[in-house]
Amino acid sequence: VALSAPLSARICQLNVELITIGDELLLGFTIDTNAAWLARELASFGVAVTRKSTCGDNIQEIVDTIRAALDRTGAVITTGGLGPTADDLTNESVAKLFDAEMELDQTVLDHLKALWTSRKRPGELPQANYKQAMIPRGAQVLKNNYGTAPGIFIEDKSGRWVATLPGVPSEMRGMFTESLRPILTERGSDRAKVIKSRTLRTVGVPESMLAERLSDLGQGFGGLSLAYLPHVDGVDIRLTSRDLPADEAEHALQMGANELYNRLDDIIYGEGDTELASLVLEMCRKGNLRLAVAESCTGGMLGGQITRIAGASDIFHGGLISYDNRVKRQLLGVLDSDIQEHGAVSEPVARQMAKGIRIRLGTEIGLSITGIAGPGGGTPEKPVGTVWIGIDVAEGRPPIPRPDGLPPITPFQEARLFHMVGSRDEIRQRSVQAALEFLRRSIASLIPSHT
Ligand code: ATP
Ligand code: MG
Repeated sequence: VALSAPLSARICQLNVELITIGDELLLGFTIDTNAAWLARELASFGVAVTRKSTCGDNIQEIVDTIRAALDRTGAVITTGGLGPTADDLTNESVAKLFDAEMELDQTVLDHLKALWTSRKRPGELPQANYKQAMIPRGAQVLKNNYGTAPGIFIEDKSGRWVATLPGVPSEMRGMFTESLRPILTERGSDRAKVIKSRTLRTVGVPESMLAERLSDLGQGFGGLSLAYLPHVDGVDIRLTSRDLPADEAEHALQMGANELYNRLDDIIYGEGDTELASLVLEMCRKGNLRLAVAESCTGGMLGGQITRIAGASDIFHGGLISYDNRVKRQLLGVLDSDIQEHGAVSEPVARQMAKGIRIRLGTEIGLSITGIAGPGGGTPEKPVGTVWIGIDVAEGRPPIPRPDGLPPITPFQEARLFHMVGSRDEIRQRSVQAALEFLRRSIASLIPSHT
């Protein structure tokens, strides 16, 4: 059987192996996010990861694992084990492997002392930290701008190298980007084929319907592959280029994204890690619209999602968790007769909740969610997953000016019925996304750039 060349050999010039170090990783208490992040980052500028391994906090294990990787690939990046404690053994292991003495690095020591003082720690730098200033002779220090542990880059006469990065993900990412990445880019050719992708985010349309709308594109087009990534908050569509140098990949992705925007403009709400809540807040900001929410089955998740976004306070005034019917009646003014006649999960109740919270908080928009998250509480007419979302829009109290050139707000009210699937928590999360998406669509005409 003729085997095709490995993927990595076809697409990339520089190959590396990743080794993540730590007993906690082997025990499964820490999830190895470092290796995943590094693999994606490296691919983005043409470095392929050919193997990932994990070993425990033990010098012999670390030495053996790195040696085997060097014999295979000649290029190794490790994470973890750079701290001051007895189980942090990585640089020592590398010194052993490269047959290099450990030496005190004065610059590193000064950095550690300065950090100790600037963090207002009591007394002198502990002896344990001096260990972190011991660097194998001949190694280049990778500075840690986010913590204490320095990494190293060390190379032998035949050009085989090891780079060590810290275990703490934020420190690891910072050191990689600021110190190691420049070294690697210098080594790779800039015509290297890279893996680049672009992710367009959609909400409210099931994966199967999206795929139908894009069926003629198959698994890819224009040299790009096409992937559907469903999550509880919606379906991401990812375009990936694997066979082109960076600039050409960028161009191909732009063409691909244009094509998708042409077909799906109404349901793509953003790219990359854009959150729907942040987009909606931005729209409200442009339209001088203030927001309040009333939630039943989501119990504060909608407000939580909105307040996760920094700077939400100028738009989002607050909300009420109206879980009990008495709260819906007494604090939101929902009519008891409607609750009796239609139930708490119903169109009139969703409408009155939205209106009630809008009037009480004096905002331009009131948004409400009332539904059955399960697992109990469903009936044949209203099964688990039945969710009503309401919106109520009118001028706020006190009124604020409309953006230039836009007419005054014409009051409107609307409620929509959704049928969510999944576990209790998925139903609740999907309800939050649906409410934000409903809001996005409802206010589009009140926003300058959307008119
Ligand atoms: P420290 O100075 O904190 O000891 P270190 O470089 O020695 O840093 P480790 O002790 O190996 O790093 O790990 C510190 C913490 O970083 C771990 O408790 C864990 O939370 C996280 N961590 C370590 N390795 C990984 C990994 N591969 N993926 C994700 N998180 C990790
Ligand atoms: Mg440690």
